[in-house]
Amino acid sequence: MSKNWIIGFPRIGEQRELKKILEKFWARECSFDEAEKVARKLKERHWRYQQSADIEHISSNDFSYYDNMLDTSIMLGAIPSRFTGLKDEELYFSMARGNNDAVAMAMTKWFNTNYHYIVPELSAKDSYSLNAKKILEEYNEAKTLDIKTKINLIGPITYLGLSKRIDGDDTFELLYKILPIYEELLSEISKLDKNIIVQIDEPYFAKNADPKILSLIKPTYDRLTSVASNIDIAVVSYFEHSTEATKVLVNTKIWGIGLDFIYGKENLESLNVIASNNKQLIAGIVDGRNIWKNDIDDTLLLLNQIGRTVPSKQLIIASSCSLLHVPFTLKYEENMKPEIKSWLSYAVEKLDEVSLVSKLYFDDEKSLSPRDNEHIKTSRVDNINRRNSVLIHDKAVQKRVANIGKWERDLQFDERIKIQREKMDCGILPTTTIGSFPQTVEVRKARRDYKSGNLDHSSYIDEMRNYIDECIEFQEECGIDVLVHGEPERNDMVEYFGEQLKGYGFSQNGWVQSYGSRCVKPPFIYGDISRPRPMTVEWISYAQSKTDKIMKGMLTGPVTILNWSFVRDDIPRSEVSKQIALAISDEISDLQDAGIQIIQVDEAAFKEGYPLREANIPTYEAWAVRDFKIAVSTAKPETQIHTHMCYSDFNDIIRTIEAMDADVISIETSRSGNRLLQIFKEAGYKQEVGPGVYDIHSPRIPSVDEMVKQINLLLEVLPKEQLWINPDCGLKTRKWEEVRPSLRNMVEAVRTIKKEI
Ligand code: GLN
Ligand code: ZN
Repeated sequence: MSKNWIIGFPRIGEQRELKKILEKFWARECSFDEAEKVARKLKERHWRYQQSADIEHISSNDFSYYDNMLDTSIMLGAIPSRFTGLKDEELYFSMARGNNDAVAMAMTKWFNTNYHYIVPELSAKDSYSLNAKKILEEYNEAKTLDIKTKINLIGPITYLGLSKRIDGDDTFELLYKILPIYEELLSEISKLDKNIIVQIDEPYFAKNADPKILSLIKPTYDRLTSVASNIDIAVVSYFEHSTEATKVLVNTKIWGIGLDFIYGKENLESLNVIASNNKQLIAGIVDGRNIWKNDIDDTLLLLNQIGRTVPSKQLIIASSCSLLHVPFTLKYEENMKPEIKSWLSYAVEKLDEVSLVSKLYFDDEKSLSPRDNEHIKTSRVDNINRRNSVLIHDKAVQKRVANIGKWERDLQFDERIKIQREKMDCGILPTTTIGSFPQTVEVRKARRDYKSGNLDHSSYIDEMRNYIDECIEFQEECGIDVLVHGEPERNDMVEYFGEQLKGYGFSQNGWVQSYGSRCVKPPFIYGDISRPRPMTVEWISYAQSKTDKIMKGMLTGPVTILNWSFVRDDIPRSEVSKQIALAISDEISDLQDAGIQIIQVDEAAFKEGYPLREANIPTYEAWAVRDFKIAVSTAKPETQIHTHMCYSDFNDIIRTIEAMDADVISIETSRSGNRLLQIFKEAGYKQEVGPGVYDIHSPRIPSVDEMVKQINLLLEVLPKEQLWINPDCGLKTRKWEEVRPSLRNMVEAVRTIKKEI
């Protein structure tokens, strides 16, 4: 028997079947029964995939119609009061997506992944009660198919750690209220079968080693392990090491501990206590977050190292985390270069990898099937080929990276800004936008047709130029000071650049769930990055030629390009980022030579790239700032560099933002008044700031009065000389009918204020 384990499996379906049926249901084009039917089929198919790969420990309750955290709120009966009166799927989807009477619950990133969960809203007044229906049913669903599953739950400490209190701060105060529900649930589970394994996910342990959190672990797990003697509890964490929590967990009666040895090498320090306390170690050794084919020999080396301390009878081999974070199967990648495809592995392929490694480790080699042997052979060859491929290694890029000299701009900000003001004179409170304008049906269609060969090059250019003309005409008429071309040629701010950079690959069907039914298809970086030719210069120069006003050039920054891609794992991320930075610096140089005076380098994902563990933050900040600076280092003092970030809470990172040394930063603040701007004042931030004055995430058209008030609030914090006026973010998801009046009102608001001043 191969002892192996999959933490969790993607549920959206290999052809995004779940997405499609949910959206149909939401549009009232089918009943929920139909959606349930599809869901049952998917669950079975996903279990069968795992079964046929010889996976021993397959999960139930890793399926979800929207999100597992939301499922946990339902299980506990943690329903915010605005949803009372609703039930079943109506309740569930109202919590996730809102309804006519109640706004949706907030959603945020699951640790450092691009998956978003629904944030529980708790209050001391709540009374909780168990709803175990989904969990019990899913177990029985598998059982009728003759598949014995382990049951996945999100642990109480992680659940509380990721919740928010609506009546205070400390969510952990509510532990005593939710533990009885977990106990009741385990008691229900214990009736399902003679012996059952329950996997309790506690990734919060990988992020937070606060003594207060650590002190909760033993009492919690002492209670949960006392509920039923026929349940074996395995506590798993991932994305980082959790050595501190492990020390506590080994002294409880849990049966097993799951650790991530890919993203938490320090977990090796825990082997001794796990072995000596007789716990099962569920060793996450196949990368569940990246798309590269596993290197069997490296993995066996790691396993042998683990095996020197932990005996085989205590060892189970696993994926490093749920496979939710990688695309489904390579089966549909028909357009990919075969050489590149041979380096990759998605969720279905990873099943085989986990299974194969466990056979190699535990079983006699003679017991391997011909298929297994074949698999091992190709896997070895593919990995060697990848290492040596000419597609990956570019001497010229490596040499350039090794020889980067200085990356500071020629003059300090104080001096640069004088030169810039003299040259451009945008006046006080200059108005601008973040880059994109509404992506109309026509624009999307033109891009699609061009890509598929149904629209010829010159017609495509004409269509895009017409759109740019319209954007410019509107901005001039509206009276905006610094214009943009509107980004009609871009489907996505990372993909657009990725497609033009050497070393980047794209998938056809590499969808990964981002939230609910929403999936993203991240591009992947497989080789050294370079820029064969300018990427934006023609569009921006064309736009500049159509106006006497200043046209702002628009680029995506290196850290964001990196954070929204799958990244090669054979060199450090910081090296990859540096390569991208050099490519961007070339683009800036070309834009500048073409007469562009302001260039914005978007770093929307700068903050989300932060490591989970505080100890790793300084290193990340150092290279992330370095690479932004490398990217803009080719800008002359008179070229004004803007950056844009899609969030507002800079309290912890204001010094880092300052160190990036952009001349102007635009941020998202419209929903927080001037509260979050205070930090710029407190920190003595000198560079210019464009705090968003209206929320682009809503179709609402803000009035002149409203924005006058908003701008006055900003002026209470920062002097008028330091402020720009702009929306929160790009406008591409909005309609022209919303954007036109909103921007007119924004400009009008600035006029009103200027008169008052
Ligand atoms: N320039 C981009 C746009 O306007 C920025 C988007 C973003 O930061 N998310 O769409
Ligand atoms: Zn933004």
